[in-house]
Amino acid sequence: MNLPIIWPDLPRQRFECRSCTNCCRELVVHLTRADRAKIDKQKWGGRIEGEPYLRLGSSYVLRHRPGGGCVFLADDGKCRIHAEFGATEKPAACQLYPFTLEAAPGGVHVALRFDCPTVAANGERPIEARKDDSRRLSGELQAQSAIVAPDGDGFVTVAHGVKLPPTETDQFVAHVERWLRTESVPMPKRLYALGRLTSTLHHAKLKQLDADSAKELVVMLAAGIRELAEDSWDARHEAPSRREMRVLRQTVFSHCEHVTFEQIVSPLWTSLRFRLNQLNRARAMSAGVGAMPMLPGVIGTPAFDAIERVVPDASLSEKEVDGLLLRYLLARFEGRSVFGPGYYGFSIVEGVAALQLSIACIGWLARSLAAARTTFNQNDVERAIGLIDRATNRVPELGAKSARLRLTYLLDRDGLGRLVSRYVPAAT
Ligand code: SF4
Repeated sequence: MNLPIIWPDLPRQRFECRSCTNCCRELVVHLTRADRAKIDKQKWGGRIEGEPYLRLGSSYVLRHRPGGGCVFLADDGKCRIHAEFGATEKPAACQLYPFTLEAAPGGVHVALRFDCPTVAANGERPIEARKDDSRRLSGELQAQSAIVAPDGDGFVTVAHGVKLPPTETDQFVAHVERWLRTESVPMPKRLYALGRLTSTLHHAKLKQLDADSAKELVVMLAAGIRELAEDSWDARHEAPSRREMRVLRQTVFSHCEHVTFEQIVSPLWTSLRFRLNQLNRARAMSAGVGAMPMLPGVIGTPAFDAIERVVPDASLSEKEVDGLLLRYLLARFEGRSVFGPGYYGFSIVEGVAALQLSIACIGWLARSLAAARTTFNQNDVERAIGLIDRATNRVPELGAKSARLRLTYLLDRDGLGRLVSRYVPAAT
């Protein structure tokens, strides 16, 4: 039986493809068995450079040409499969992008990627225009067993091994979303309250409660999220510690340092040289002294000190920057890509903490993109959100034990609140 799609409730989000070819040049496209069968039938032998796809561990990916870009990307920026055979003959992931699908017990959640510049900048067409395509592709992928309903009861861990049933998880998310949509409150304060909620859940002795009391407490705390900000909002200006700053820079590095197609297929010696270079840059990023090391997507290597001096530009409008962050946060919650199977199997507390940390990373990256100008603008925030979201759910390091330990370190000391307060991109 086909699971229905669960369309995200994002009334303000817009998208239309502007053929920038970012996705064709930057992303590694994984193929289903049916994708490969279609490509084989199209008989590309001799008409493209090399083979159309290659095996990578247990999966197959579209090949890129030497120098970058999908093997089917023509010089005029068009997809050759699309041009010769039609849109529905492209691989499913290409047809779906910038949407992705996440199967849950009650249906398939449709999520949106902000590494597409038109999603971040908000295009002109309502995303509903893509609903029928998403439904069709969800059906096709389920029929091929490329998307399967998850096993189990759908319970999600909140923290410390305590689990929440699906109904209460939905209630928790609904309360959080309602708070995030409270536009009468500035976004930094909305995020601050979210931080207080995760911190309270992290420190609560949930394990000492019976299952019913634990789930009631979790939902009750989410329902009262507004009050959680009030008691300490005025004390939020404490600066992050050196170690908290180190965690922030390490997380920025993990997000930006994705592996490209060229690196995946490079010979062993080249790959080792890249790893060594990566290790040195990771160390420099962690130390935070002198000039920032080269980061993919960031032009130049500004001094860490200079990044800290960057301030919001006078042109940055509260409505626009808050609106961008709100669209991003809601897309993550609505697409169920914050915790559980949609985010490295993280608990609710870990996942929401990781999301908050990514907002601090976006603010820090926006500053580093603007270091030469000394003020950051809306475009810098959009670019930073694209760089951060590109890694989300794709880079294994972000789901590794070390990433979880870093989050626990911040949660233990309430360091997330300090980082978010310092770096959330906001108008003055
Ligand atoms: S990144 Fe977005 S706008 Fe650019 S080609 Fe891909 S889908 Fe279109």
